[in-house]
Amino acid sequence: MDEMCVKCDPSPSPSPVLLIFNKSLAGELNLNPLLNDLEEFTEIFSGRKMLQGSQPIAQAYSGHQFGHFNPFLGDGRALLLGEIFNKNGRLMDIQLKGSGLTPFSRRGDGKSALGPVLREYLISESMHVLGIPTSRSLTAIKTGESVHREEELPGGIMTRIASSHIRVGSFEYAYKSENKLLIKNLADYAISRHFPDAGKVENPYLAFFAAVCNQQALLVANWMSVGFIHGVMNTDNMTISGETIDYGPCAFMDIYNPSTVFSSIDKNGRYSYENQPKILTWNLTRLAETLIHLVHDDQNEAIKLLTEVLQLIKPVYTNYWLSLMRSKIGLSKEEQDDIQLISQLLNLMEINNVDFTLCFRSLSKALVGDRKSIKNLFKNDIAFDNWMALWKERLSHESISDEKIASSMDLVNPLYIPRNHKVEEALEAAVFHSNMKPFNKLHGILKNPYQEVEGLHEYEKPDENSKEKYKTYCGT
Ligand code: AMP
Ligand code: MG
Repeated sequence: MDEMCVKCDPSPSPSPVLLIFNKSLAGELNLNPLLNDLEEFTEIFSGRKMLQGSQPIAQAYSGHQFGHFNPFLGDGRALLLGEIFNKNGRLMDIQLKGSGLTPFSRRGDGKSALGPVLREYLISESMHVLGIPTSRSLTAIKTGESVHREEELPGGIMTRIASSHIRVGSFEYAYKSENKLLIKNLADYAISRHFPDAGKVENPYLAFFAAVCNQQALLVANWMSVGFIHGVMNTDNMTISGETIDYGPCAFMDIYNPSTVFSSIDKNGRYSYENQPKILTWNLTRLAETLIHLVHDDQNEAIKLLTEVLQLIKPVYTNYWLSLMRSKIGLSKEEQDDIQLISQLLNLMEINNVDFTLCFRSLSKALVGDRKSIKNLFKNDIAFDNWMALWKERLSHESISDEKIASSMDLVNPLYIPRNHKVEEALEAAVFHSNMKPFNKLHGILKNPYQEVEGLHEYEKPDENSKEKYKTYCGT
């Protein structure tokens, strides 16, 4: 869609250093031949040399940021180098992030600091390993120039791979242009790229909307199941494909507290852990508004049809969430009271300030006779002992041995997540001491999050020394 992008070249990095690259992802993208010459590979993904056949563009989009509409956002520090078919025949976007000014940079410099680049690399790849739909990271490059933030910081560029960068905000942009053909073309394109089945039914745009709602509900349920807080669920950061993008101020929750917020700019907790499912519906309502005229000629009828789909988001989300939570506590059958059992556990976790990730691993240990760590987490809470008894009773309906249930739990409950203090430690060493060892070690551990490894105990735990609340910042 020419109306929604501008041709723009990256600003070449002065002296790029390839800090990390994703060999297996390069393979998935058929980019292996490029790896034979890492110097050229670095030239390409630092904006110094054009990828063959590439015509870089910056995409236009709008967005509701913290509830307020901003009509003119767009790729202010990102450029789409092009699209490529992966090994499964799926079209993927290759995007540089932090490669300099674009027509959408507004008051920004179009650049990125190295810290946020490495942070996105680490966390997005960890999400991928956890089976959560996400954009991927192909490279992280130190550009060799400083960027001016509150202090001078080393600059970075990352290469992001996504199944597309079409956002709810892209639809808001097309809608705001009042060009009805533009929004139809955008919807048709999104259907053919992401939801071809929706194109085959009587009302493709309604089916498209339902498909987006479904994917987004699945995504947020996945986030909730691992304690992930995205941090900036603005409509411009929500993809139509249902992949997680924009790892700015995101973080994993340690102690279970539903009102947890890490982002320094989220003063009112709009994007707190517990608000994520509500914001999901809020954002999709913004998408629905842009589709009204496509769904039905009669506006009232269109609103009625879209509202029916919107009303399904909550139950659809709850179903996904319930299914993920069931498997976290070892249930494979479905019983009506399961939701109470899960809610009671979450309540007890909150009251006892229990670490979200450790709790589920300790439960499986308790099931095979090692109650030390669960006792440690819940102290001697009698209410928790009662819950354990209820849980055991419920597990007896499964007709599977406790050992088997415990192993199945360990396959869905990660032991190693990107612990905030470990991420910070790794970034500090990489950015300020040019030492990638802690980063590479952490990245390596996160590649196998379910398998306990001797000697890595410190990577399992939250930071027990810090008294300060962990704070995150937008990745600018
Ligand atoms: P984000 O909060 O990271 O999703 O970014 C919101 C908007 O600000 C997007 O349009 C970005 O392209 C733009 N933006 C963020 N950082 C910069 C920067 N350093 N220079 C120019 N634009 C930026
Ligand atoms: Mg964004």
